[in-house]
Amino acid sequence: MTIIAIDGPAAAGKGTLARRLAAELGFDYLDTGLIYRAVGMKALRTGADPATAANTLTPSDLDAEDLRGDEAAQQASKVAVIPPVRAALLDFQRKFASRPPGGRGAVLDGRDIGTVVCPRAEVKLFVTASLEKRAERRLNELLAKGLGAIQETVLADMRERDERDSKRAVAPLVPADDAIVLDTTELDADQAYAAALGFIRVRIPAG
Ligand code: C5P
Repeated sequence: MTIIAIDGPAAAGKGTLARRLAAELGFDYLDTGLIYRAVGMKALRTGADPATAANTLTPSDLDAEDLRGDEAAQQASKVAVIPPVRAALLDFQRKFASRPPGGRGAVLDGRDIGTVVCPRAEVKLFVTASLEKRAERRLNELLAKGLGAIQETVLADMRERDERDSKRAVAPLVPADDAIVLDTTELDADQAYAAALGFIRVRIPAG
């Protein structure tokens, strides 16, 4: 099965890029951050311990309404440091990668796809951008949704999450040795997409 692993910090542009690449290639897409968000919010809502929330996760938990916001992001990064939570979610992610519903290939985005979940992925991209640029993008997203947001708070939250994701003992956020690093600080979404597709076409010729 052809697998494309896309990792990187929050708001670097991974999700938009991954969705677009999956559509272009006819592959299935899995947003693994959403799974951690669902576990974090389920634990918060039900009071279950996070490992139990991970082990009992159902597809309908991924449809919960509050998963895209910043509270879910912070909850996700808190439960993501817990080894039994990561272990419980590994199997689901690997099954998706090896048997994607459409049968052609899979694009997964997250923090540890190229290093832990799919170390044999054909293509590994590490998508990043400066902290300031990522905070600016997140702020604009929130404002566009009509949600109030303060620049300093968005920046501080993102810095806190970066630290937690990069410094945790299990599956920290680091590029795989064989990942291609794509810095989107100075790129718009179309430029990032063109660069990524260029890298991918070298490994997976069209046809
Ligand atoms: O990608 P997203 O911002 O939705 O991820 C939310 C949080 O989930 C991340 O900050 C990280 O702590 C955690 N996560 C992870 N491993 C992944 C995907 C997300 O630890 N593969």
